[in-house]
Amino acid sequence: MTREFVNWSGSLRFTPAERAEPADEAEVCALVRRARESGATVRPVGSGHSSSPLVRTDGILLSLDRLSGVISDDGRLATAWAGTKLRALGEGLYDAGLAMDNLGDVDYQSIAGATATGTHGTGIGFGNLSTQVTGVRLITGTGDVLDVDARRNPDLLPAVRLSLGALGVVTRITLDVQPTYQLHRRSWCAHLDWTLDHLAELQHTNRNMDFYWYPRSDRTQVRVINRIDTDAAPERAEVRLPDGEPRQSQVGPTHRTIPRDRELRFEEIEYMLPSEAFPACFAEVRRRVRDRHRRVAAWRVLVRTIAADDIWLSNAYGRPTTTIACLQNTSLPYEEYFRDVEAVFRHYGGRPHWGKKHWLGARDLRPLFPRWDDFQAVRRRLDPDGVFLTPDLARLLEES
Ligand SMILES: Cc1cc2nc3c(=O)[nH]c(=O)nc-3n(C[C@H](O)[C@H](O)[C@H](O)COP(=O)(O)OP(=O)(O)OC[C@H]3O[C@@H](n4cnc5c(N)ncnc54)[C@H](O)[C@@H]3O)c2cc1C
Repeated sequence: MTREFVNWSGSLRFTPAERAEPADEAEVCALVRRARESGATVRPVGSGHSSSPLVRTDGILLSLDRLSGVISDDGRLATAWAGTKLRALGEGLYDAGLAMDNLGDVDYQSIAGATATGTHGTGIGFGNLSTQVTGVRLITGTGDVLDVDARRNPDLLPAVRLSLGALGVVTRITLDVQPTYQLHRRSWCAHLDWTLDHLAELQHTNRNMDFYWYPRSDRTQVRVINRIDTDAAPERAEVRLPDGEPRQSQVGPTHRTIPRDRELRFEEIEYMLPSEAFPACFAEVRRRVRDRHRRVAAWRVLVRTIAADDIWLSNAYGRPTTTIACLQNTSLPYEEYFRDVEAVFRHYGGRPHWGKKHWLGARDLRPLFPRWDDFQAVRRRLDPDGVFLTPDLARLLEES
């Protein structure tokens, strides 16, 4: 009997028929071929931080934990093993004098898992982490090795940069990187009305800006990050902070300044909205949370921004995006609350975060992604026998 898989939040549990931890790419190829011949499914897994059932399988659960570390760099591009955790990646790049452009709120995920779901940080000038991917090595559904980048096969790049593990096992990822730089993080508390009044100004005058809203008190925590060398130019407009509020400040390199530690476990729903729809959508979420869910909505709501991109399954595809995420302590019920706000997000044209809770299937998703059919055509080409297509993936990607 294999070991049960439990995701980070504990809401996803299953026991695969087999768990594999290949030590090299040849083993990955052999495993995919064997699965194809026997009709088994393969699901690649990273750190298991997603709470949607992307990795659930009764077949083979494949982890690349043994394929970790930075392989090479030329000062502009860096290639890492796909199993590398973001924290180790940050340290490895730092040792080489390099850094990523932006990061999400934590660094426990693998680089393959994070980019497979469009994991993002915040900042109107920054795309999600998948936009930093310039190439991948993929073991396809036929067990073949396929290197994808803009020079060799530009037609495949917008599909493989964010692929939910549906096109194959990613074994290496090449990322756009830059020389190391120092960041200054500041945060303070404010009333929600102050934060909403100053939101556009805060978003446009800081490199990274987001805020947490604590629904029971109407307090927010505003967080801004700027580069010390360039962004702190004296002419940069400075928002006048609310008087008497506690402030925090931290300076350091990217990988130690952007991600935070998260010890308390939570469930989360996050939708990506066209930025122009944010004010009305947030007002409606605020109203519903206060009127219907205040008793159970014990945790915070996070608001961030993402730049538009051209990645086919990216939830920031083609539009500047503002995200709203509702978090809920894992010991409390979440479904009624999340389903109710999901209806609001959908009304305003939101697209769900692939790795978080949502209740959409292929029929709902297809109209939200203009290049949906192109992605499916690539998927059928690279995985003709559906080696990576579990019932959960089929529900997401194939209209019945
Ligand atoms: C505490 C916490 C904080 C978070 N913060 C953020 C945040 O700030 N921003 C944000 O956008 N999201 C955030 N998330 C969501 C998280 O980033 C995503 O769910 C991410 O996909 C998790 O990465 P993982 O390595 O755990 O991948 P998993 O959850 O294990 O897998 C995710 C997907 O990646 C695929 N995959 C994994 N490895 C491979 C591979 N080698 N080849 C092909 N496919 C592969 C899987 O098949 C699956 O489809 C957070 C989640 C948690 C629990």
